[in-house]
Amino acid sequence: MTASTTTPDSPADLTDALKQYFGYDSFRPGQRQIVAAALAGRDQLVVMPTGGGKSLCFQLPALLQPGLVIVVSPLIALMHDQVTALKANGIAATYLNSSLEFEQIRRRERAVQAGQVKLLYVAPERLLSEGFLRFLDDLAADNRLVSFAIDEAHCVSEWGHDFRPDYRQLGGLRDRYPGLPFMALTATATERVRQDIIMQLRLREPHCHVASFNRHNLYYEVREKRGDRQAYNELLALLEQNQGATIIYRFSRKRVEQLTEKLTTDGFEALPYHAGLPAATRTEHQERFIRDDARIIVATIAFGMGINKPDVRLVVHYDLPRSLESYYQESGRAGRDSDPAHCLLFFGSGDIRNIQYLIDQKSDPDEQRIASQQLRQVTDYAEGTNCRRQIQLGYFGEAFPGGCDNCDNCRYPKPLEDWTIAAQKFLSCVARVRERFGTAHIINILRGSKERQVLERRHHELSTYNIGRDRSVNEWRLLARTLLHQGLVSETNDGYRVLKLNAYSWEILRKQRQVMVAVPQQQAVVTAQPDELSAEERELFDRLRDLRKSLAQEQGVPPYVIFHDANLREMAARRPQTDAQFMAISGVGNRKREQYGEPFMDMIRDFCTERGLEADRSTPAPPPHQRASDRLPSTTAKQTLALYRRGLSPSEIATERGYRRATIMTHLAELLSKGEDIDLDDLIEPARRQEIEAAIAHLDYPKHLSAVFQYLDGRFTYEEIRLVYAAPPPSSTRRRK
Ligand code: ADP
Ligand code: ZN
Repeated sequence: MTASTTTPDSPADLTDALKQYFGYDSFRPGQRQIVAAALAGRDQLVVMPTGGGKSLCFQLPALLQPGLVIVVSPLIALMHDQVTALKANGIAATYLNSSLEFEQIRRRERAVQAGQVKLLYVAPERLLSEGFLRFLDDLAADNRLVSFAIDEAHCVSEWGHDFRPDYRQLGGLRDRYPGLPFMALTATATERVRQDIIMQLRLREPHCHVASFNRHNLYYEVREKRGDRQAYNELLALLEQNQGATIIYRFSRKRVEQLTEKLTTDGFEALPYHAGLPAATRTEHQERFIRDDARIIVATIAFGMGINKPDVRLVVHYDLPRSLESYYQESGRAGRDSDPAHCLLFFGSGDIRNIQYLIDQKSDPDEQRIASQQLRQVTDYAEGTNCRRQIQLGYFGEAFPGGCDNCDNCRYPKPLEDWTIAAQKFLSCVARVRERFGTAHIINILRGSKERQVLERRHHELSTYNIGRDRSVNEWRLLARTLLHQGLVSETNDGYRVLKLNAYSWEILRKQRQVMVAVPQQQAVVTAQPDELSAEERELFDRLRDLRKSLAQEQGVPPYVIFHDANLREMAARRPQTDAQFMAISGVGNRKREQYGEPFMDMIRDFCTERGLEADRSTPAPPPHQRASDRLPSTTAKQTLALYRRGLSPSEIATERGYRRATIMTHLAELLSKGEDIDLDDLIEPARRQEIEAAIAHLDYPKHLSAVFQYLDGRFTYEEIRLVYAAPPPSSTRRRK
């Protein structure tokens, strides 16, 4: 199909087009201006973090202008994904790359010549081939080329992390097609690379949009890795709580294999991904992960570039990342759909040693220096007590005031304690052994260890022997790290890590300097809570997800191409029953309504009938972040409450309000759950109530009502179960999970 080609001239037109083609109600920051500048034919540099919504910036203008937009993209998988997603929205897009047969290429080129394509994705090496350039020349001569969009534009820069020589030659296109605008897009955070892009691609007075690199929806957390077992147990707990797609990064192939095996033994669907696997296996694993066939992928950093999965809910760095920039990019693969997601870094001193060892092996001193500095920045981040966002964004030169309330340091600030006396003990012990030993040995002496190394060297005779029993080994390690980290003691770089006193150390020993240590607290386990759906809504959501998965399988596309989780969640909350209501859901454009409206609305209708629920809750669900704090009953429930207070029975309220009785009962359940004073005995026989209560307690407050329903062999209605579930527990000792 060919898209409409009228040029929009008012902001409302752009918004309409956005809804019509992509199903979104509003632009993300910057998108509107970028689209407008594209329509005005300007060169542009678009810098947005992963998930910021870059694709739309060239896709929408392509639909609003006559002719063809050429999209340069380095990654075959990504190309394929984007084209699939566009087609799902009924947009004429196609791609050309080396994965295609000659015949397929010919067919696609003919479609382009026939004007049937709005967006053509090409790999740079094809784009620059003489044959293809001639093909473009013909189109250009006919005035059928609109513009070039260069995705992943940082590949032109040697300063970036993914330099591709092919990209370097793209600048030549500028001379060949001087009249056509270029849009360069990247998620690169560094200024130097941005300047390089402008220069290499010869952008002319480009409209530059640099978005904030703050990813609001990501919860950043760092935990100490004290040992393999502790970290693994914490990981398991997290995986049990967070049910979403998960990437776990590890340092080496061997570690990837080990962890995958362990997780599989423990009953998780986990797949390995690293450069040591055959290409076919890698592709298969990646594919299964993208299609929600396997929830967890355990990978080296070989994994990730070109992964377009928007609904990754958890990214765990089980080992230390190499630099803060790579941490930002890798953890940034979480939550591209803007729903809450969790980024966890396990920080172990063993890892520091491993990386340091590798750094020490490097022969080039410059490389060594840079790598050491990067390692230090990572440890700074991990040990930092400031807002994690402030540290990360600061690293990219973006000022952020802190207090984000969405990182561990903001939510659970670590108290600073004065450990000056302990530091004096530690440092004087370093002095007593004449600065010839490392941390472990010092701690052994302080804690009065009878280790051979201590006794043989007669270190048990030192005055500092056994003066540190008041602190645990871990506390001493924490202190040692803090001292090193704050530069209050030094260590040798020869691989032995011998502790040396420096000027600051002496100030501490002379009582001229205080030592403050940020003491980690026992943390509540936080998981990203993507939503505040009620138990029932969640159940519907799960069914819609299943439907999405089976449709996706039938059509051979990834599930997210059909709808994102957030779209399904909105459906579960609003239960649309007409085309108009369905269109009101974010992510539903014309094409999706035509293609999927029926199956999804059918499923919703069936669910409502089964549960005696009101379909179409015309009061729109507030966005998830508001729902969390929304503890007030809905307006319609409040109207029911008013009548209930006047002494009307549920049936009478139903008659009065023109609703079904079942609907009124859901209002009453809602009111109960919001703490309104409703007498349950009016609504359900005490004996039945007790039986349901017992079942709920027995099942330990299950997430889904259906568990209770099944447990009770269907002898009770959902209506009854819902009421009892919503009511406060009978004894205050029991708490809801
Ligand atoms: P990037 O290429 O910058 O990493 P994408 O273009 O893949 O990001 O967009 C990330 C996600 O955000 C996609 O799932 C996309 O559909 C969605 N998205 C983009 N623009 C909007 C918008 N205006 N409203 C809602 N969702 C959007
Ligand atoms: Zn913070």
